[in-house]
Order: sequence, then structure tokens, then C-alpha cells
Amino acid sequence: MTNVTEAELLRMVPKELFVNGEWVPAADGATLDVVDPATGLVIASIADAGVADGAAALDAAVDAQDSWAATPPRVRGEILRRAFDLMQERKQEFALLMTIEMGKPLAEAYGEVAYGGEFLRWFSEEAVRISGRYGSNPEGTGRMLVSQHPVGPCFLITPWNFPLAMATRKIAPALAAGCTVVVKPASLTPLTTLYFAKLLAEVGLPAGVLNVITTSRSGAVSDPIIADPRLRKLSFTGSTAVGRRMIGQAGQGVLRTSMELGGNAPFIVFADADLDKAVDGAIAAKFRNVGQACTAANRFIVQASVAEEFARRVTARVQDFVVGRGTAENVNIGPLINAGAVEKASALVQDALERGATLLTGGDSIEGAGTFFEPTVLAGVAAGSDILREEIFGPVLAIATFDEEEDAVRLANDTEFGLVSYVFTRDLARGQRMVERLQTGMMGLNIGVISNAAAPFGGVKQSGLGREGGPEGIQEYLTTKYTMTPDPFAD
Ligand code: NAP
Repeated sequence: MTNVTEAELLRMVPKELFVNGEWVPAADGATLDVVDPATGLVIASIADAGVADGAAALDAAVDAQDSWAATPPRVRGEILRRAFDLMQERKQEFALLMTIEMGKPLAEAYGEVAYGGEFLRWFSEEAVRISGRYGSNPEGTGRMLVSQHPVGPCFLITPWNFPLAMATRKIAPALAAGCTVVVKPASLTPLTTLYFAKLLAEVGLPAGVLNVITTSRSGAVSDPIIADPRLRKLSFTGSTAVGRRMIGQAGQGVLRTSMELGGNAPFIVFADADLDKAVDGAIAAKFRNVGQACTAANRFIVQASVAEEFARRVTARVQDFVVGRGTAENVNIGPLINAGAVEKASALVQDALERGATLLTGGDSIEGAGTFFEPTVLAGVAAGSDILREEIFGPVLAIATFDEEEDAVRLANDTEFGLVSYVFTRDLARGQRMVERLQTGMMGLNIGVISNAAAPFGGVKQSGLGREGGPEGIQEYLTTKYTMTPDPFAD
């Protein structure tokens, strides 16, 4: 295992579409540029798929479906396991690639390689546990056989914020279940998925099982794939706005769907909490990935009697952050993904200040190359502020206060989103009440990071449908068949 340089790595990453086991240019020769958000410089020019390329990718997935479904689960699992092993050998390459195409600090990129890799290992183990059941009907007149089968060809669409983990969290269970796939990564961060496809080919994944199309024309290329009656499943991770549209499109073909959408996570601190742990949790839940995570704590809801002390402590921590390009040592805050993200963070901060919030640190974009925003803390954020309603997706920690437990629950649930919530309290019964009353698919109870390949990740309300990871994750790619037979002892 040797460390590669950025230039070497960028030469090693494929720049073409991966269709039926071959690297091919876009049929019309189009290309799209990939930019390093820390410098604003183009780092690669890659194939920009059109409608014909999308159709070719789906054709390949459809053609490969039957033989992949018939491949023994152990063989499918072993391919995924080899992919896990090879990813460990290449962790420096994957980490560096994510840092330069997406901007996250290198230490966090290594964390994502560990997390993203775990889906390969977990689902390599799940591939051989697909099961069914056999038993008598209650009347005793027949036997019921329940078996599970791959759903069929899948279309997987991933976002830019976790370029590796969002891809492996879908690809690994789909392949383990025996489904073939067409993957469309975000146009802002396509390189990681291309490099991962190369790895899967190296560990023996048969041609056509995984196909990757990179495109700047997402809607035009995706629409006919989703409308194609041979497609059986759409799995999407991204914003709620696009997800709603996807659900509508999928409805036309009555496709199976998994939707991992936006969040607006409340982070509740009760006065009885261990404040040191709450501050550690807040820093992790807010600033990981420069705040660009669906699980990012969006609204800090802090009991009034400890709000000032909590704000003082988080502000001290935030003022120690080092902002810069993620490849530099000691940097904990990288750039935001693009200029639009910086404008959004600025507008949300401005709105909160106009409605009476107090700026404790940061608050501005940073001049110069790249798209940076100062790590920011706002206290006394007023109800009705945009920052409490919208996904911030930036390094801004916004604190509002409450008096009674009932108020905290009401504020936390006052959103159309329901992905994750965080609660800090030393009172066990109160913690249990929060588990039962907060309307989210996941919760961090006295902890600020919850993601784990062995856990079912997903939301309620407009944060999505379905679960990724855990034993539940493979179910998204399996369909259940029931067969009735007569009682074999009759006659
Ligand atoms: P996005 O704009 O919705 O895009 C997500 C993906 O959808 C990208 O690949 C994008 O391609 C593609 N896309 C956009 N419009 C499309 C269309 N009409 N047809 C087909 N594909 C289309 O979201 P994002 O900005 O990349 O990601 C941030 C969002 O993802 C946040 O809301 C975040 O909360 C959410 N997220 C959720 C989870 C979760 O597990 N719940 C995890 C991570 C992120 P282009 O890049 O070409 O536009």
C-alpha cells in the first residue's frame, strides 16, 4: 500500500461510462468537468452521458439480470467481500479522491471509506442469509412456501455529499440480493463512483451487473430509464424536492422505491444532560462533512437554564476550527460544495439575525478561491426563522431555547421532515419518552453520530421511504413469493 499523489490518482480514475463491463465515451462525445470546491479548478473531464447511453446501461443490466440472480449467493457474497478487502488496500486513494472532488477534510474522508466499506462487508454476509419459510396452513389442508427473490434491474441515484457511502449503501445490498444495477452518481462528485466501479470489475463482478452513467443531464437521461417497463426498482438519495418528483415518476410504472431524502434534525439538550457530552455530540452532529449531511443537527433546542453555558462552550470549540482545503493537515472545515451552498448559508444567517438572533462567531463567506463559509454559531434564534425550517447544509449552529419537556417535543416535531433526532439527558425515563414521541426514523440518545452499516438508516414523514443498512437493507431489493401446495399426506 503506497500513497499516491493527487496527479497520479486523477490519472488512475476512469473518465468514461461503465456499460456492460466496458469503459465507453458518451455516444455523442459530450464531456463534463469536475471541479475541486476548495480551489475552483477543474480536476477532471469525464464522459457526459445522454439518453442513448442511459438506454445502453439499462439494456446491459436487463441482459445480466437472470444470470446474476442465478449466481450462488456465496459467490455474490465473496465478490463483495473481495471488494471490501481491496477497498481497505486503497483507502488512501478513495479518501483523497473524495477530498478533492467533494471537499471534506481528509480525516473525515478516511472515516467515510471505513463506513462505506462496511456496507460491502455487511452485505457480503447478508447475501447467504436470504431465506424463506415452509409450513402448514392453519386448516392443515395445504403447505405454504414463502421464498425471496431479487426484485430485478435497479436504478440507483446518489447525492454528492457522501460520494462513496451513499453508493455502497445501495450497490452492496442490490448485488447481494441478486439484482443488477444502473448507478447515476451526482454530477458534482462522479469520480468516486467511477473508481469504485473499476474496483468491482477487478474483483470479478461479471459484465453488465453494475453499470455507471455520469451525466450533467440528470432528468433527461433518467426519465426514460424510470419509465422503462423492464426497470423494477428505483432507489434515490437526495433532496426531498427531487425525491417527491421521483416518487411521482416511479408511480407510473408501480416501481418499488427506496427514498432517502432530506432532514431537519432537532438536537435537544435538557438541563439534566452531561453538558460536556452534549457539546461533543453537538460538534460531531453539526460540523461533520462541513454540515452537509442529511443527519446534520439543524436545530439546537436547548433548555433555557443551560442555553447560555451550552452556547459559550460550543462557541469556544468552533473558534478553534481550522478552515481550509481538506488535504491540509489539521483542517477540520473544508469548503462548501459550490457557490449556491455559500449563498444559502449566508441568506439563512442573515434572516436569523434580522429576526433577532445573536451572532456568537463566524457568519460570513470567506473571500478568495474556493467556496468557504465561516463556522458559525447563532444564539436566541427566533421561532419562524428560515434556518429552523430549512436544511442548512452548512457549518452554522443555530440555538433556540425551550422551558418545558412538552415544548421541546412540540418544537422538534414541528417540521415536515423526520430523519433523525438527537437528545441529551441523564434521565432514563425522559430519554425513553423522547424515543416514543419524536417523529423521526432514527435517534441519537446521548450521542452525536449514529450511522452504522448494521443499522437500518432511514426516515419518516417527508424524509423518505425504506431503510438502508442492517438486515432491513437487503429486503429493499428482495420480493416475496408465496406458493401453495396441497397437503402431501392427503389421499
Ligand atoms: P439532489 O439535488 O436531490 O440530487 C441528488 C441526486 O439526484 C443527484 O445525483 C442528482 O444529479 C440527481 N437528480 C437531480 N434531479 C434529478 C432528476 N430530475 N432526475 C434524475 N436525477 C436527478 O440532492 P443533492 O444536493 O445531491 O444532495 C443533498 C440532499 O440529499 C440533501 O437534501 C440531503 O439531506 C439529502 N441526503 C439524504 C440522505 C439520506 O440518507 N436520507 C443522505 C445523503 C443526502 P445531479 O447531480 O446531476 O443534479
